[in-house]
Amino acid sequence: MKAWTHFLRGFILKILYPVLMLAGAFLKSKKPEFQAYIVKLNNLLVMRDNANVKKILLLLPHCIQNSKCDVRLTFDVFKCRRCGNCKIKNLIEIAETYNISIAIATGGTIARKVVKEVRPDAIIAVACERDLSSGIVDTYPIPVIGILNERPFGPCIDTTVSLQKIEDALKWFINHQEK
Ligand code: SF4
Repeated sequence: MKAWTHFLRGFILKILYPVLMLAGAFLKSKKPEFQAYIVKLNNLLVMRDNANVKKILLLLPHCIQNSKCDVRLTFDVFKCRRCGNCKIKNLIEIAETYNISIAIATGGTIARKVVKEVRPDAIIAVACERDLSSGIVDTYPIPVIGILNERPFGPCIDTTVSLQKIEDALKWFINHQEK
């Protein structure tokens, strides 16, 4: 990892992020924009670098599971019956194809626990602006590519994500190994 990208990511996540969140406390309508900006800057910097990545974790938000599905996936995503009523099925298939870890987190505490257990070299995280930006800050210096979820039914319910973006991020990590 290049020292300058490491330093700049640290500056953005540990200094600029809290400053923007303070500004967001006064400009509430702008807060999601600030958080999305942090995610974008982080992704740009992560993708300026190579990484020594052997173990990748795909970390998903709970709201991506179909709200009518009664399977409990928090501790084992592979309990999914793969009915196809939500993208969990496709995401498990991607994880199997690329032989990466996959987990669902219901919040920051569970996300931190998963990261501690899996000990990934890199993370592809899916979430809303708030959870994604705070998660990237929490897991620094692990390289994270953050992908915003899509919310056709509003926040926190039956959300979805572009499978193409997930695969692109995965391929990026696979193709940019440190020599
Ligand atoms: S694909 Fe899996 S998680 Fe989604 S609704 Fe079907 S069983 Fe539930």
